[in-house]
Amino acid sequence: MIREMPIRVRLTLWYSLVFAATLFSLGGAALWMVQHATVQLETKELQQRVRSVRLFLESRPDGESSASLLEAIKSTYDVTHGKRWLQIIDEHGMWLYRSPLVAAVYPDLVLPQHLRRAETYFTYRSGTQSVRAVIQPITAKGTRYTVQTGVTLDTTLSILSDLRSHLFLLSFFGLIVSSLSGYFLSKKALDPVAAITAEAQRISDKNLSARVPELDTRDELAALSSTLNQMLQRIEDGYQSVRSFTANAAHELRTPVARLRTGAEVTLAFPRDADSYRETCERTLETAVHMGRLIDQLLSLARADAGITILRFEPVNLPDLIEEVAEEWAERFSTAKIVFHQELEVHELWVKADYAALRGLLDILLENAWRYTPQGREVTVTLRQEGLAKDRQTAEIAVADTGDGISAEDQKRIFERFYRVAVPLRGESPNTGIGLALAQWIAEQHQSSIEVQSSTGVGSRFSVRLPIGS
Ligand code: ADP
Repeated sequence: MIREMPIRVRLTLWYSLVFAATLFSLGGAALWMVQHATVQLETKELQQRVRSVRLFLESRPDGESSASLLEAIKSTYDVTHGKRWLQIIDEHGMWLYRSPLVAAVYPDLVLPQHLRRAETYFTYRSGTQSVRAVIQPITAKGTRYTVQTGVTLDTTLSILSDLRSHLFLLSFFGLIVSSLSGYFLSKKALDPVAAITAEAQRISDKNLSARVPELDTRDELAALSSTLNQMLQRIEDGYQSVRSFTANAAHELRTPVARLRTGAEVTLAFPRDADSYRETCERTLETAVHMGRLIDQLLSLARADAGITILRFEPVNLPDLIEEVAEEWAERFSTAKIVFHQELEVHELWVKADYAALRGLLDILLENAWRYTPQGREVTVTLRQEGLAKDRQTAEIAVADTGDGISAEDQKRIFERFYRVAVPLRGESPNTGIGLALAQWIAEQHQSSIEVQSSTGVGSRFSVRLPIGS
């Protein structure tokens, strides 16, 4: 049930509970200390009284008769003790003083020679009164006596009782005040959360650019609001990219479809000869090939975005993979009159990778080099082992060309979807601007990224680094 309560109420409950426990333990401790101090005071008082009896007996003249002694004691202690709480008996069993109040409760008093302990403290009730008393043996002028004396606890008990009820009342009021202030404090502390919740509830796919209030308090709530805003920014970016992807895809497909339609309409407008129909068919085929390639790339991107493409990572020997891909490209390079080199530093270099995906990445880089490098220039694919520390060794795969290069401005954007700069020099279909975006995604899946170094008129070098180890 407590879990279902609002945090504000739970905080207040916890706060009050802890505060109550603290108040009551402090009150208990204070009460115990006062009680302890009064017991000490009473003990001192009792000892003082016993001492005064001993001093009195010692001050009596030698050889004094029992009757005179009894008379002296009576006249003195009737006044000072008001016949209360005092009893004195000597070692022969003669009562020197007997308070009727004590005698009513304790008719006997142990003779001094039979007392086992030097002093015995105890508490008893006499009528409506509580008395703290001591029984103690003393010796005066060679005779042993047992003295029993006491003090009433009425004042002490009433002070303690007052103190107890005051402490209880104080704790009770303290608890009420602290619970109220706890409630208002937690309300104040949680108000920003309520504001963030209210704003977050307003945000939907229609107003993804709205943000929750940013707090400038530098505390956990400020961190929460800025984390939420960063999350909203990522969601908005993702949403935007899906939107623009759809718009771009539709736009890309519209041109070839329009071309197909116009071609067919113009051809069908009036009868034509066989060559003309053939030409239309060839153009249609070319457009269909381009559309097929575009749709393949779009599908790959969509699958990557949706997380449907599942890569299977297994040990891959990079020289084997590169030789296989390069072999397939060698002929196309030679037909295009581009000098193609392979520089593999090692013959065995294992990495953990998805074979097909990595092949796809290399294909994209080599196809770009083939499409954008003028004839007579060079393209080189290299494999290098880097790093000395065993656990930090990487394999660098690079495709470098001596083509026209890419300007610094465009280098920043060529990995964006549908971004294209140069007109391809060869290939059946126009460029789509998707290749490098796909390649970058594959590199990212391998915990890496594609780097580009390029300068206009000199050439470009695309490279990717993979951690060595299978
Ligand atoms: P596409 O090649 O279909 O346009 P990419 O994403 O592969 O798509 O490439 C994006 C752009 O980067 C290309 O339009 C081209 O201008 C530039 N580019 C890529 N590779 C090279 C290269 N090797 N040399 C020069 N420009 C390149």
